[in-house]
Amino acid sequence: MDTRSPVSSRPAHGLSYVAPTATSPWGTYLAQIERVLPYLGPLARWAETLRRPKRSLIVDVPIEMDDGTVRHFEGYRVQHNLSRGPGKGGLRYHPDVTLEEVMALAAWMTIKNAAVNLPFGGAKGGIRVDPKKLSLKELEKLTRRYTSEIGIVIGPQQDIPAPDMNTNAQIMAWMMDTYSANAGATITGVVTGKPVHLGGSLGRVKATGRGVFVTGREAARRLGMDLDGARVAVQGFGNVGSAAAELFVGAGAKIVAVQDHTGTIANPAGLEMGPLIASARLHGGVGEFRGGGRIDDESFWDIDCDILVPAALEGQITAARAQRLKSRLVLEGANGPTLPDADDVLADRGILVVPDVICNAGGVTVSYFEWVQDFSSFFWTEDEINLRMDKIIVDALKRIWDTADQHRISLRTATFAVACERILTARQERGLYP
Ligand code: GLU
Repeated sequence: MDTRSPVSSRPAHGLSYVAPTATSPWGTYLAQIERVLPYLGPLARWAETLRRPKRSLIVDVPIEMDDGTVRHFEGYRVQHNLSRGPGKGGLRYHPDVTLEEVMALAAWMTIKNAAVNLPFGGAKGGIRVDPKKLSLKELEKLTRRYTSEIGIVIGPQQDIPAPDMNTNAQIMAWMMDTYSANAGATITGVVTGKPVHLGGSLGRVKATGRGVFVTGREAARRLGMDLDGARVAVQGFGNVGSAAAELFVGAGAKIVAVQDHTGTIANPAGLEMGPLIASARLHGGVGEFRGGGRIDDESFWDIDCDILVPAALEGQITAARAQRLKSRLVLEGANGPTLPDADDVLADRGILVVPDVICNAGGVTVSYFEWVQDFSSFFWTEDEINLRMDKIIVDALKRIWDTADQHRISLRTATFAVACERILTARQERGLYP
């Protein structure tokens, strides 16, 4: 046997189709899995399940552009784990999306859904595209063709997409319509985050931001931090960051800095939310807002604040930036914003991190409510939705906090411990086929 063959020289847990690094999303996720292994007891026997997505689909998405040319886009749908139920997770449109990134995002959905005990596995989708460069008609064609291509793996009992970065209720409506047209029946439960009159749920649009606020409120209480007067810095002012910011302001906090791809705006006296949201909507970002001073992007990490909310892309809090943060609390509205090395720096510095896999779980929790409402065709009030979501997140966070205290581990590793126990118990009970 040739021991120099590529297969035998590959690391024990490597997959042939991706090459993760210490700072890439899948590499970050794998490091997080390594950290939880000591707390899994005999279930660690099944841990390899977590290092391998169950199913990864890559699709070619050709569309005719408005100028008559044909362009091809690369699309993905990854079902990381289905042990506890159908796949569930969003769909991202971004020019830098890769299979590796979608794998990590799908894996974090597996952990997140189990951490709040939703009856779902984890999945995620993506298309390598800059949607801002497409007309509305092109965006619709792209969405419909992608939906048709992944139609073989999605469905209300198989895998249920939802909005993520650069996707919204309109895109979910086109997905629902395309899937339904191909099936010959209206099947609303195939996606969540739909418009309310098409089987969508009240409260879904702001649910992720609301969940960030709920975990922040609970964490602040445990830290003895008063939200009234607390200074908050927010990175990313999309659906998640803006909704969370509004709720913090409603609780008496001040937004002292906000950053997105168009710039960084700071005001120690607090940014006014109404005008900021209006300006961001008008200009496609916060960079033009004049109710604060423009500062250079890197200075965002030096802002004097009590709470930092990263609500943009992965890998933002590096070890070097973690050394500079002045906040006492980090609330991960984004998926995967903190690198494993940075986690260690933050822990050493006594900065508390509420990890993505519980912090931003409010969105998928209300997606679960939407899926349930679609099945029963009976719809709940917004108050019912907000109250139930609040309770699920608070209860889940309490369980995670107890686990963290018991083992003296970070909230991230504790969330993984609670989630992995549920996932791997299901894995074990279902058994291996054949
Ligand atoms: N994209 C959101 C997330 O990362 C929501 C997913 C969903 O509702 O299925 O949690």
